Amino acid sequence: MDEWWRAGDSVWREDAASSTRFVLEAVQGVPRIDWELARGRLTDVAQLVGAALPATCAHAAIFPQGFAFCPECGAPVHAAAPAPETAWWGPATGSLPPGAAPLPRHVPHGLPQTALPLGEALEGREPEPFVGRADLRMPAPPNSLCVFAAADFGFAAQRLIALAYTRNVVQYWDPPGNRWHVFTADDGSADLHFAISAYAWLPPADAARRGEFGLVPTAQGLFRLILNPLAESWRTEPVFQARLAASPGAVGRRMACPFVAPEGVRLWTAGADGADPEVLDIVSPDPAVPVPASGWSRPFSYDGRLHWLHDEGQLLWRPGQPARWLPWPFPWMPRLQFGGPVRSRDGRLWLIGNDGAGYSFRALGDEAGLGTPQVEQIDGARLGFGTLLFRRGHQVKDDPWSDEDVEDQARGDALVLPLLEAVSATRGQPSGLVLRFPGFTGRAEAALAGEVLPRTFVEWIGRHNVILDEIARLKNPGECVPFVCDGSLWLHHPSWNEIRGWRLEGLA
Ligand SMILES: [Zn+2]
Repeated sequence: MDEWWRAGDSVWREDAASSTRFVLEAVQGVPRIDWELARGRLTDVAQLVGAALPATCAHAAIFPQGFAFCPECGAPVHAAAPAPETAWWGPATGSLPPGAAPLPRHVPHGLPQTALPLGEALEGREPEPFVGRADLRMPAPPNSLCVFAAADFGFAAQRLIALAYTRNVVQYWDPPGNRWHVFTADDGSADLHFAISAYAWLPPADAARRGEFGLVPTAQGLFRLILNPLAESWRTEPVFQARLAASPGAVGRRMACPFVAPEGVRLWTAGADGADPEVLDIVSPDPAVPVPASGWSRPFSYDGRLHWLHDEGQLLWRPGQPARWLPWPFPWMPRLQFGGPVRSRDGRLWLIGNDGAGYSFRALGDEAGLGTPQVEQIDGARLGFGTLLFRRGHQVKDDPWSDEDVEDQARGDALVLPLLEAVSATRGQPSGLVLRFPGFTGRAEAALAGEVLPRTFVEWIGRHNVILDEIARLKNPGECVPFVCDGSLWLHHPSWNEIRGWRLEGLA
């Protein structure tokens, strides 16, 4: 006769005829368990639910939570409980659930920036000109155009999720099994495909449910995505069903998303939990230029306001105020592919663009001049975002339009593309992860648009610079995705078979 065990938040059935002896029957907050699937990755499942694993005996393949000894022979068993790690949500607006390293308030949220102390962990390596190599390799997920999040999602261990948003695929990394699993959609779930604008999702609010990945944009609207690693499945719950124009953003306790209404693009907004929804008109000084229904960049928030950028203009919204669409003045066109908004010393944000005669930085927002210039002319392309900015191979450390810092003349022959900025209160100079293309003398636009780059260095810029790796024949470098997971910094590119990783010494 089977015996039943209640252990922590789980219920187990002891069945001597089962190959695992103990069978996980129920876990609080998890709608169903597929033991046929789960027992194929038993170490992974034991870590997720905090169960125990055999050490010396073979009377069971897994033991319920809290078991210290095998009930059959008394041999010790060990708890499968990895140490907690800081969560990674990628560029995100709005507040992050507990377990993440939140950015300080004074920087924009939604850019590729992190508050993790990456510099302290990487600068112990041999400095340039030494060329390092990745310490680790992880297979790329089968559907490789994706975004990554690493969090515990309410379980006992952190896991990496790769969401392939152009293919409607949720991929789960099983660290003990060293392989990806593609989860299946529960009946009635929305299609997760979203490609009309840059992809961004909102991590779950603080009252997250078990498995909650966050609020994701889809072709049919905004949905909560909930993962079930115990059944290798996912499901969605509708929050706002409409044809979206861009990805959602959040500021303060409100979230918002542009969508296409019969009479044009409108802004939907609601509380972080979806309550109190509202639809706002978008006002414009020039109604002849309609608000675009696609092609928007990932939103960011700054100084209590949400921004979406587009080749044709900017959309701004501050809770409690009208949403505004401001087309760029002709013939100025932004270069969104160069990175994103950069911050000047006085705290304003600027965007690089070109008016046909040359490049310039234009102040974002709509604050009238008030005696301060709104456009700063520069003599060439500058790549970056936040305060991590480069003119060719040289870092720009003052205002975005200031002269670059020339430490080594030979660097003028290179082009540098920032990927991730490490925001730190204790550092005077901007730090971060960049790609350096030595000897590239062509236009920045060409380097970012499919030209083959013969040599690329993956480089850490900090108190001293460290070359982490060298890559041959890279194309479309702007598609590189950095993330932090399992105590390492990882770099993924959709065309690579493997994700490169560097251990972060001392990072919790
Ligand atoms: Zn035993």
